[in-house]
Amino acid sequence: MAEYKGVMIFGEAAEGKLATITTELLGCGRKLADDLGQELSAVLVGSGIGNLAQEAIAFGADKVYVVDDPLLKDYQTDAYLSVMEKVVGQAMPQVLLMGQTSIGRDLAPKLAFRLKTAASLGCLELAIDPQSKRLLQTKPVYGGNAQVVFVTESFPQIATVRAKAMAPLEPDQSRKGEVIKIDAALEPSAIRTKVLEKIPEEVEGIKLEDAEVVISGGRGIGSAEGFAQLEELAKMLKGAVGATRPPCDNGWVPAGAQIGLTGKIVTPDLYIAVALSGSSQHMSGCSGAKAIVAINKDPEANIFREARFGIVGDWKKALPAFTEKLKELLAG
Ligand SMILES: Cc1cc2nc3c(=O)[nH]c(=O)nc-3n(C[C@H](O)[C@H](O)[C@H](O)COP(=O)(O)OP(=O)(O)OC[C@H]3O[C@@H](n4cnc5c(N)ncnc54)[C@H](O)[C@@H]3O)c2cc1C
Repeated sequence: MAEYKGVMIFGEAAEGKLATITTELLGCGRKLADDLGQELSAVLVGSGIGNLAQEAIAFGADKVYVVDDPLLKDYQTDAYLSVMEKVVGQAMPQVLLMGQTSIGRDLAPKLAFRLKTAASLGCLELAIDPQSKRLLQTKPVYGGNAQVVFVTESFPQIATVRAKAMAPLEPDQSRKGEVIKIDAALEPSAIRTKVLEKIPEEVEGIKLEDAEVVISGGRGIGSAEGFAQLEELAKMLKGAVGATRPPCDNGWVPAGAQIGLTGKIVTPDLYIAVALSGSSQHMSGCSGAKAIVAINKDPEANIFREARFGIVGDWKKALPAFTEKLKELLAG
């Protein structure tokens, strides 16, 4: 253990900036590094990403490893794996954090295998055990019905973290840090696949993850037409529409609307839960909402245990009345 030191996060970029998950990882990593009394480093891998190093420092990194190479423009498993093996071999971090993103989910277990260590995927909480100084990795198990704290016995201790599970720090542009450039030294022939095209998810209006108001519908909505009524309410409140799993499986809403254990995590100010029961798998994606309002015809539905306000009744009657009243209030 003596040779492994510090906390490292794997950074991702989006639209020329650090991705939100990366700023969240930096916030969490900063706290872990402080608890260990060690450094926080970030790794930025890509093409033309050197300018993001200062941003990573502003968000809490002491040191930033930059691996900038045209061959790393798009995520590709072989290339990124080879680069990360090199960086981790050089920096020897005790803890390595990645986002629970399509990249993190692919990279973390493969890297753990290469480094003969383990990776905990989809953690919701991370802390340093005050006695052993090991990373305590809390993640949902049994389909979200329980949470378990894992400890990894080998190093580096690798964990991926779910989006919105951690909060970023306020950026401080005056923070100083060290930037270390690493040569990827990649052989193009070692890269066995290449990205031909990227098709971004089309989102009309506000992104679900960023919305301050989320109107979510469940199985009880019954149809795509029913969801159109939720859309109307969402537009009025400048919010976004989410769903439980059944409406996504039934094709009433796109799969990207799913909130929960196997969907997105949202932390809006207001979460209006319509005709959904409040299963643990769903709640794990929305329990961070500041206020939950529930409409459900079953007074025993679990959602009423989680909600601050509730309407017991048929949503087809309650929602139009709710929407009308809101129109009145917004107009006046
Ligand atoms: C491994 C695993 C992962 C999962 N991941 C997720 C996930 O990420 N997200 C997720 O949501 N689920 C997930 N699920 C599914 C989850 O277990 C539940 O089955 C699901 O959340 C239930 O959705 P629901 O509340 O819409 O449906 P139901 O539980 O069937 O509830 C429907 C509710 O609607 C109410 N209702 C019906 N009609 C009306 C009406 N007219 N007016 C008012 N109320 C009405 C009923 O009283 C009931 O409470 C997962 C399951 C597993 C096993």
